[in-house]
Amino acid sequence: MPYTKTKYPPWSWSNSRKSTFEECKRKYYYNYYLSHNGWEDDADEMSKKAYRLKNMTGIHLILGSAVHEAAEYTCKIISGSGKLPEKKVLIDKVRFLLNQAWKESKNPRQWMQSPKRYFMLYEFYYGYGISEKVIGKIKKKMNASVPNILNSKTVRDIVNNDCTVKITEEVDKFNIEATPVYAIPDLVYRADSDNWIVVDWKTGRENEEHDSQINTYSMYLIEKHGVNPDNITGRIEYLTTGKARDVEISRNSIQENKEKIRNSISEMQECLADAENNIPLEMGEYPMMENRKLCKWCNFYELCHRSI
Ligand code: SF4
Repeated sequence: MPYTKTKYPPWSWSNSRKSTFEECKRKYYYNYYLSHNGWEDDADEMSKKAYRLKNMTGIHLILGSAVHEAAEYTCKIISGSGKLPEKKVLIDKVRFLLNQAWKESKNPRQWMQSPKRYFMLYEFYYGYGISEKVIGKIKKKMNASVPNILNSKTVRDIVNNDCTVKITEEVDKFNIEATPVYAIPDLVYRADSDNWIVVDWKTGRENEEHDSQINTYSMYLIEKHGVNPDNITGRIEYLTTGKARDVEISRNSIQENKEKIRNSISEMQECLADAENNIPLEMGEYPMMENRKLCKWCNFYELCHRSI
């Protein structure tokens, strides 16, 4: 669809939008409203800045993305050739992305011009730097996560049982009433005709919210691919520790998750001046988070720091 400039952003819901809304209302406003049109030459300076900051990342997030890419690549290789890629190939891929982010972050001018195209690590942008200790932690996490991809329950299942990989990182959405819901499962595969497995790769700590995410991905399978919920199993692969946790999907869990999403949609829409057109209230109506200790690590710190 050709790009059309709109005064306000299109309305939608996603798990990451919900987490931002719950974490800090001001961050939510910057991320989903102020940054809108910040890519346009005639946008105001605040919107341009919010758009740039929204596109910034951190070294731990880059590692997470790189490990995700390595997992996706592994599944594509298995799906195409039936063979596992070499561990070294995966480590090189992860290293390449980390090095690229590091190198590009040293050139703020090119990032300012194209914040979506180039990386900027907030550790460099805000002048904190990345200590030897953090580099050591990143290396340790990379060296643990990559072999854990190859030894994961999911990869062993696909290789040993000749399963069919159906979806890897497909960007798609389905609707709950009038709200488009974005659901991007990391991987979906079929063990047999009655058995769909929805996988989420994680490089962070275990969290109960992950079960909701898996349920949302399952809703996508039900809505867009007509899969019976009784035939779906969710699985969270914690790649740092190598632990896999299966999540039971049922009509009840799907219904409960749908209710949670509906409640979250209502809460977000209460913060709008006009819900039909997704027009936000004034910025002051989106309070800054009370505990400011974590603000230093927020992408939008520059927009808030005078009030902190
Ligand atoms: S710097 Fe703090 S208050 Fe400001 S948006 Fe970020 S988390 Fe919220």
